[in-house]
Amino acid sequence: MSDCEVLIVGAGITGATLALALADAGVAVTMLDREAAPSLPAPGQPLDVRVSAIHAAAVDLLERLGAWPLVPAACRAPFGHIQVWDAASVGSIRFDSAEIGQPWLGSITENRALVAALHARLAELPAARLLAPAVLDDWEVRADRVIVRLGDGRELTMRLLVGADGAASPLRLRAGIGAAADDFGQCALVGHVATERPHAHTARQRFLPTGPLAFLPLADGRCSIVWSTTPPEAQRLAALPAGEFMLELGQAFEHRLGQITAIGERAVIPLRGLEAARYVGPRLALIGDAAHVVHPMAGLGANLGIGDAAALARLVIAALHSGRDPGLIQTLRPYERARRSQNLPVVQAIVGLHRLFTAGAAPLRALRGAGLLAVDRAAPIKRLLTTAACGLADGAFG
Ligand SMILES: Cc1cc2nc3c(=O)[nH]c(=O)nc-3n(C[C@H](O)[C@H](O)[C@H](O)COP(=O)(O)OP(=O)(O)OC[C@H]3O[C@@H](n4cnc5c(N)ncnc54)[C@H](O)[C@@H]3O)c2cc1C
Repeated sequence: MSDCEVLIVGAGITGATLALALADAGVAVTMLDREAAPSLPAPGQPLDVRVSAIHAAAVDLLERLGAWPLVPAACRAPFGHIQVWDAASVGSIRFDSAEIGQPWLGSITENRALVAALHARLAELPAARLLAPAVLDDWEVRADRVIVRLGDGRELTMRLLVGADGAASPLRLRAGIGAAADDFGQCALVGHVATERPHAHTARQRFLPTGPLAFLPLADGRCSIVWSTTPPEAQRLAALPAGEFMLELGQAFEHRLGQITAIGERAVIPLRGLEAARYVGPRLALIGDAAHVVHPMAGLGANLGIGDAAALARLVIAALHSGRDPGLIQTLRPYERARRSQNLPVVQAIVGLHRLFTAGAAPLRALRGAGLLAVDRAAPIKRLLTTAACGLADGAFG
């Protein structure tokens, strides 16, 4: 007799989405996290520095699961346009949601509020149980179940164990699943800034020789910045007095939104790519950053994780409906195949783009400038890219 069908380790964006998709279909799911569950931000509470561009297809899924309406309006801002340009060439490109008949491309969303909204919705579902703070101590895979021991000595039995425990994934490590790491040699400096001119619901990114600088629109009219650069440069920028930082930031962004008029807290986050050798094992599946980590320049990491959660939930629900065991490796293989074929090209494209945009050689600069302009003028290719940016090309959301 199992305590639940599925135990998810990690209650972040991807773990909580999987828990919600399963519990919404009546599947008994337990989720544990070493951190206490976050609560929804109180009105007027300052926005956290960590935000993510959640694409339209993921927003739609979260809407259907009843979590999206619980994200406070102050913590999410829709964007309808993406503008990208290159500091070292004439290349630029613009994507508009109207080109593919969509009202928005996605929403810049506070991570903390999204996780809290997922938890608030989960608390309404009788099939879901949250253990937090709690840690997994060890587990044993048997022919028909997994037995998990928690740090406090409790034992739980389930048919499938899911690692949604982030890039460092202790679960992935303990399961002996290797991972190829990609050191981008970069850190991201993040923070929120006020600008002289309105953001006009546009996500903007300028490619500098040291890495991309993004300005993402927030609900209160400010922009969230993600400035990817070398680690020493990120530390230097973080230590600058606010006035000097705002001047340097304005120049780096070519003053596209006029002067920077205010800056809040700044944080520096090291960036490192990762791809797990396998997404599944006996009675084990990995989702989200535990399976793959991409550079933030494409704003896709959380979206790919939400896609993993949707795909795995669908497979588990279908297996249970047809009386199959959701933890068997043959049940889990289609999840790995589907998500690898979706995620790997994205990971490789992002790594390639990163190399292309940080390459200093003049012929490459000219090539990427010409390439960006050519794509900008090729309506069918642009429509394809805009569809992909919205997540509408990812089968998991269909
Ligand atoms: C600067 C930056 C900007 C980004 N911008 C975007 C963006 O615009 N769009 C986008 O889609 N993505 C973006 N991302 C990526 C996105 O933030 C991540 O892909 C996403 O947050 C990963 O979610 P996750 O739930 O898989 O993992 P995490 O958020 O890492 O969650 C893991 C959870 O597991 C828990 N945990 C860990 N170990 C244990 C343990 N041993 N026991 C119990 N619990 C444990 C942790 O407490 C945590 O709650 C960005 C990333 C960065 C760094």
